[in-house]
Amino acid sequence: MASSDRRRPRAQGARIQTPIDGEPDVGSGSDREHEAKPGAGPVLDAAGRLRDATQVPSPNCDERPAGVTIDLLVVHSISLPPQVYGGNEIIDLFLNRLDPAGHPFFASLLGLRVSAHFLIRRDGGLVQFVPCAKRAWHAGVSNFQGRERCNDFSIGVELEGSDADRFEMAQYRRLAQLTHALRRRYPLDHIAGHAEIAPGRKTDPGPFFDWARYRSAITRR
Ligand SMILES: [Zn+2]
Repeated sequence: MASSDRRRPRAQGARIQTPIDGEPDVGSGSDREHEAKPGAGPVLDAAGRLRDATQVPSPNCDERPAGVTIDLLVVHSISLPPQVYGGNEIIDLFLNRLDPAGHPFFASLLGLRVSAHFLIRRDGGLVQFVPCAKRAWHAGVSNFQGRERCNDFSIGVELEGSDADRFEMAQYRRLAQLTHALRRRYPLDHIAGHAEIAPGRKTDPGPFFDWARYRSAITRR
């Protein structure tokens, strides 16, 4: 996502009431997974929906090209407003209902139709916007090892974060667990940050994403 590319001062954006506001924690139901036995992770349904994720369907997706192999996982980071965590603005953006008047930064996002397959909140809560069988609109103009239009063959995971903050341990745990679950279904031979597939245009997940920690966690399993 573009939002993490922009440096803005910390600010409190207006909180937009959504049905999710009524829940104490978008991912609260899945925290128990942290105690699950190794290998007893969450399961994908036929369309690539993770049963243990909170499902918030986004219209910003379409069909993947016929016969494509989903072999790339793209790691992103996003926060709205930048460096402000815990609100519903990311969800609102992916559902095309972000209030442009809610924060000065939001005007720059007006008309943007984007999504990711997953969002991992700061507390490790997991939200799914697009089933993995469909093409989410997360990578934009991109190129991975000579292959363009990475949305065609990738799964996009957003971490709630920014280029200026460390990520939470709960996020690394969830990302590793999610990667493990996805690899049971899809031959995800490659993992890349958004910055790697859109150099010069994107910087996420940013310098604070600990690739060594993540790669170690997914190798151990
Ligand atoms: Zn991104």
